[in-house]
Amino acid sequence: MAVVKATCYGHGVEVAELLSSFGLRDFGVSSVEEGCELKKKGIAGNIYILGGFLPWEAEIIVEERFIPVVSSLRDIECLEEASKKREKKAIFHLKVDTGMGRLGFLLQDLKPDILETVTRNSFVRMDGVMTHFGSAESDTMYTRWQFELFSRFLNGLGLDRKNLLCHCCNSAGFLRFPEMHLNMSRIGIALLGVSPNLEANLVTQRGLKPVAQLKAMVKYTKNLPPGFRVGYGGTFTTCRDTKIAVVSIGYAQGIFRNLSNRMEVLVRKRRARVVGAISMDQLMIDVTDIPGVQEGDQVVLIGRDGEEEIRVEDLARLSETIPHEILCSLKKVKARVLVNGDRSST
Ligand SMILES: *Cc1c(COP(=O)(O)O)cnc(C)c1O
Repeated sequence: MAVVKATCYGHGVEVAELLSSFGLRDFGVSSVEEGCELKKKGIAGNIYILGGFLPWEAEIIVEERFIPVVSSLRDIECLEEASKKREKKAIFHLKVDTGMGRLGFLLQDLKPDILETVTRNSFVRMDGVMTHFGSAESDTMYTRWQFELFSRFLNGLGLDRKNLLCHCCNSAGFLRFPEMHLNMSRIGIALLGVSPNLEANLVTQRGLKPVAQLKAMVKYTKNLPPGFRVGYGGTFTTCRDTKIAVVSIGYAQGIFRNLSNRMEVLVRKRRARVVGAISMDQLMIDVTDIPGVQEGDQVVLIGRDGEEEIRVEDLARLSETIPHEILCSLKKVKARVLVNGDRSST
């Protein structure tokens, strides 16, 4: 399953369209709205609603043949009611909470009689059973424990497992625990060529390359004397004759302000440090040691320029967050250009 929630992690719905053109047939989104957006783009196949739903969304779920994840009896009852009303069978995957504390039935609440009612109900059909790892990117022991609980639950189901999709892996689970793949994995960030943790080699060693690049432009350059303050709050003061380039991107376009004085960018195939506080639509870089920088020069914030590369994982480390959050901020970027968007040129 390609997890394409949050508009393909800020990349744009085109990613889902491309995957669909490659023949992918299972897509995971968070909400009914996101599911409808995929449908509108003509994406065929199974659309899973991973983030749960509210009672009044059951009818549209049944109507559109979305496959929601259910976490309570109420969820199932809502689907049953909608199914009767719309005269269409409701299909769902059952979610169990093995240690994430988010959606899903607690194992102790799933008494055998509940499962029996569910499997005997002719208006609803359980096509899959899933759980979600809380720390697959960092905690091997805990993930093994969650998997053990899930496996025990599956073994105790007493159902014909041949007709049941069982899944627990996100990207981290998939990359780190091949023995836990079962018969489906839910892959989000790894599909975009970015690691689910700060270790880029988790994806690079498999030949996965980042899908997104982020570029801006030098808008203006100036030479400052030593002792001159740069940016709001004066968080940087020049200590030498300094050539500053003003770059046309800021926190309104998704560059986290806490990367001020921390992140680097690429100009003319060289690294330049961001100096001073990042503004709303602009940031300043120190280009004193890079000859020839001028207005209109390309600035790479994510991606490659010559031998140098800046990765999402680097930015996540500097910003003290996870790569997922950096990617989602890409949705704020003003202009997106689809590169190699059609299959023949990919
Ligand atoms: C977002 C999500 C995923 C995908 O996570 P990645 O780390 O991006 O691979 C998988 N399963 C569920 C339930 C999710 O919400």
